[in-house]
Amino acid sequence: MRRNFSNYIKTAAVFVIIAVLFLSSVINVAGGSELDSLRQKQRELNNKIIQQQKKINDARKREKTATNELEVIERELELTELELEQVTAQLIAAETKVRKIQKELEEAEKKVKEQEETFKIRAVSMYKNGPIDYLEVILDSKTFSDFVTRMDIISKIIEYDSSLLNSLTEHKELIADKKAELELQRDEILAVRNEIGAKKRQIEAKVATRGRLLNQIQNDKKAYETALREMEAAQNRLNQMIAELQAKQNKGYMGTATFTWPVPVSRKITSGYGWRIHPIHKTRKFHTGIDIGGAPAGSNIVAATHGEVIYAASLGGYGLTVVLDHGGGISTMYAHASKILVSVGQKVNSGDVIAKVGSTGLSTGPHLHFEVKINGQHTDPWKYLQ
Ligand SMILES: [Zn+2]
Repeated sequence: MRRNFSNYIKTAAVFVIIAVLFLSSVINVAGGSELDSLRQKQRELNNKIIQQQKKINDARKREKTATNELEVIERELELTELELEQVTAQLIAAETKVRKIQKELEEAEKKVKEQEETFKIRAVSMYKNGPIDYLEVILDSKTFSDFVTRMDIISKIIEYDSSLLNSLTEHKELIADKKAELELQRDEILAVRNEIGAKKRQIEAKVATRGRLLNQIQNDKKAYETALREMEAAQNRLNQMIAELQAKQNKGYMGTATFTWPVPVSRKITSGYGWRIHPIHKTRKFHTGIDIGGAPAGSNIVAATHGEVIYAASLGGYGLTVVLDHGGGISTMYAHASKILVSVGQKVNSGDVIAKVGSTGLSTGPHLHFEVKINGQHTDPWKYLQ
């Protein structure tokens, strides 16, 4: 009976062991395939994120080029406006001169006309009544010398009228010539002004076109950035699902109670865990890890504790990133690396070099962003660091 019972126990134990093995293998297969598919999705999404970042970088470059071009054209416009102002001032001066000379000309014409009238009156009286009058004047002469004097006076009056008229006419012609010259100058300035005006309108059209182009680029960039944020949020959800799934697989914690400091050459904290103003976005954001600075690019980044590499690629704003799973739902993240030295699935020990310090992703300089997660939720790294 005892032997039977022991046999029964043995049989039962074997059965239980087989059942457990079978179940765990089923769980592993199920968990594994789900994990595999999630990781596949993660990789695909990561490629999309990289493409999207390229698009954004490209849009940024185009934005910069368009902005520079616009600045150049705007400067050109400013210069043209200045030129136009100067030439307009010249035109106003030229028109003032033309108006002044017009008045001078009118006065000269008036004088010529008056002199012509005087001359005409004398001439008319000379010709109409002249022969008689002058003859009378001459015949009225008492003596020959009187006759000569009278003849002389008459001829002098006529001579004076004629020469005065000639000189006035000459003066008028000079003014008319000068006026024509000034008008020519004015017309030349006007032509230049029209040319500059046309150039200005062309540049204004260019500014408008470039402005629209810049607007378009900026809108595109905004749309890309929105899409990127959505992708990154999806990526974060995926990461969390992966972490949760791993935690469900209930792998025991394989790490140490206290972590190895992840950047051996520096212990300088440039940004702590908690609320802060984001250095690039300038908005209040929760900083989900600690930033270790003071280490030049290329310095070693080491595994904080024993674990398995579950992510080793670019991850949105985090740049080149390594995530280590330490079992028990605990993972560590190492971001902004310049180089990754491990690959997914690789087992690492505490203190193993896994990457090099860099400034990839959204970063203002070489540093390590170190993050600790429990079941995919960030937690204060100082719980594990000394
Ligand atoms: Zn950080």
